[in-house]
Amino acid sequence: MARALGPEYRGARRRLVEALQDRGIRDLGVLRAFDELPRHLFVPDTVRHRSYEDAALPIGGGQTISQPYVHARAVEALALTGRERVLEIGTGSGFQTALLSRLSAQVFSVERSATLLDRTRPVLQEVGVRNASLLAGDGTLGWREFAPFDAIVVSAGAPDVPPSLAAQLAEGGRLLIPVGSREEQQLTLFTKRDGVLHPTPLTTVRFVPLVGAEGWAS
Ligand code: SAH
Repeated sequence: MARALGPEYRGARRRLVEALQDRGIRDLGVLRAFDELPRHLFVPDTVRHRSYEDAALPIGGGQTISQPYVHARAVEALALTGRERVLEIGTGSGFQTALLSRLSAQVFSVERSATLLDRTRPVLQEVGVRNASLLAGDGTLGWREFAPFDAIVVSAGAPDVPPSLAAQLAEGGRLLIPVGSREEQQLTLFTKRDGVLHPTPLTTVRFVPLVGAEGWAS
């Protein structure tokens, strides 16, 4: 890690890890990543004192950094072994990108807002993330150049699975995406077997809308 973690926020970080365990997160790799990542560097100054609450926080431009429990649950559901190539849609604050970068081989992350991405890029650099490539663009179309992906995680709510993402998922791969209305979605894990996506609904969530050619109109 490029910047050593000081004693700052250590107690708060430890309490967050305990809260995640209490809520049922068991994957030790995921818990360790939460224990070691400085979430406070991924949020704006105005909400920094709340960095280690189990809550979603505003990150500007009407977007939010997801609640830690939702990130933990999502990343745990992907059951990463460290060897995967992962596509993330909706980089946002970059916190989940950092989680994924520790738990997989390579991360490809697409964010629609170039402004947000310009803010996130140096933070990922600062915390020592070296295996993540970032792209400003419409993530509903995936990132064809680097497909297929062993895992795809979408961090914004979609009306349905974007066909491009289904196509860019490797055989045996896992796709995690909130699907439903603009207001409320089912976080759903799809597994690809014989070219067909098989859904497992996980939990009800409220994500910001996935806006793009194969998502919602803006
Ligand atoms: N995991 C991020 C989530 C941020 S909110 C975090 O916790 O910080 C969801 C993000 O998805 C927003 O930054 C939004 O700009 C982005 N987004 C919405 N539609 C998108 C699209 N079609 N392609 C890429 N990113 C998109």
